Amino acid sequence: MTRIIGVTGGIGSGKSTLTQQFERHGFLTVDADAISRTALTPDAACFKDAIALFGPDALNEDGTANRRYIASRVFKDETLREALNAIIHPYVICEMIRITEESEKPLAVWDVPLLFETGMDAFCACTVAVLCSTELRVKRVIVRDDSDEAAVRERIAAQMSDETRAALATYTIRNEDTPEAFAAQADELIEHIRKELL
Ligand code: ADP
Repeated sequence: MTRIIGVTGGIGSGKSTLTQQFERHGFLTVDADAISRTALTPDAACFKDAIALFGPDALNEDGTANRRYIASRVFKDETLREALNAIIHPYVICEMIRITEESEKPLAVWDVPLLFETGMDAFCACTVAVLCSTELRVKRVIVRDDSDEAAVRERIAAQMSDETRAALATYTIRNEDTPEAFAAQADELIEHIRKELL
C-alpha cells in the first residue's frame, strides 16, 4: 500500500515548491487544490449534490455550473459555504485516495492547504508543515498572483497560524532563505522521510 506524506502550510509558504521537489525525487504528488477545482464540473461525483444546494439558477444552459452565481451565494452566506464544503471535501478526499491507490508508487505526497482543518492528516504516515514569515509570504504571493496586498494579508489572517501547524506536524521546514537553500534543506528532509517510510 502506498504511504502518504501530507504537505501543508499557509498561502505562499512554499508548499507547491516543496511538493515539486518530492516529485523530482520520484514521489507521486497529488494536489488537493487542483482536485477541488474539478468538484463543480459535471463529471464530478459531487456535482449534482452541490448544484442541488443552490437550485436551478446554479446551472448554465449547457449544464455546467454557474460559478459566478455560486460564488456570490456562498460569499454572503456562511452556512451555505459550510454546506458546500461538506459536499466538496469528501469528494476531494475520495479522489485523492483513488489517484493514490491507482498509482504504482510506494510513496505519495498530498499537497493540502487545509490538511489539519479537514482531518486529512489522518490518512498520512507523516506530515510536513512549511513555515515562513507573514512578510515574506505576502511579498511572494503578490509577485506570484499579481494580487493586492490587503487581500493577501486578509487570507493569511483567516488561516491557521504557523505555530498551530508546527505543533500538529511531524516535520517542519522553514522557507525564508534562497530557493537554493530551501531545495538543499528539502533534499535532506525528503531522504530522511524516504528512509523512515520504506
Ligand atoms: P504555496 O504553494 O505554499 O502557496 P509556492 O510554493 O507557490 O507557495 O511559493 C510561493 C511563491 O514564492 C512562488 O512564486 C514560488 O516560486 C516563490 N518561492 C518559493 N520559495 C521561495 C524562496 N525561498 N525564495 C523566493 N521565492 C520563493
